[in-house]
Amino acid sequence: MSYRIGSGIDFHQLVEGRDLWIGGVKIPHVKGALGHSDADVLLHAICDALLGALSLGDIGVHFPDTDNTFKNIDSKILLARSYDLVKDRGYKVVNIDSTLCLQAPKIKPYVPHMQETIAAVLHIETADVSIKATTTEKMGFVGREEGLVAYATVLLQKAIL
Ligand SMILES: [Zn+2]
Repeated sequence: MSYRIGSGIDFHQLVEGRDLWIGGVKIPHVKGALGHSDADVLLHAICDALLGALSLGDIGVHFPDTDNTFKNIDSKILLARSYDLVKDRGYKVVNIDSTLCLQAPKIKPYVPHMQETIAAVLHIETADVSIKATTTEKMGFVGREEGLVAYATVLLQKAIL
């Protein structure tokens, strides 16, 4: 049985005049994440973890922000494409553990919907998608609500054919 582990980290600025997408869910807030795509910090961290598990580089290699194809793209599409690369190599996702760092808003009410959204794209159960959240106790750029961070770890298993 062959297993591979991967980790991903992503950062985005929070600015007025942008929607806030986290984990494939649009969250009502005064600020949104700035980026070339929809700037979904959690999905990007998971993409990087999936790619990292198979030493396939990172999200910037596969979906460069210099490519207009990816301008304002729904990051669920990037996640699905990252999953395709995993599947093409004969692997499936076992589970994901992730942590979001942001001061505001409270994301707990949105977590079940995020879990369902991610699980659907990756063909796993919602119980296999852990999403934790923490503030930084008002310290640093996260505490000043200038940005947010996501960390993700994934485990892949070679699928039995
Ligand atoms: Zn990102």
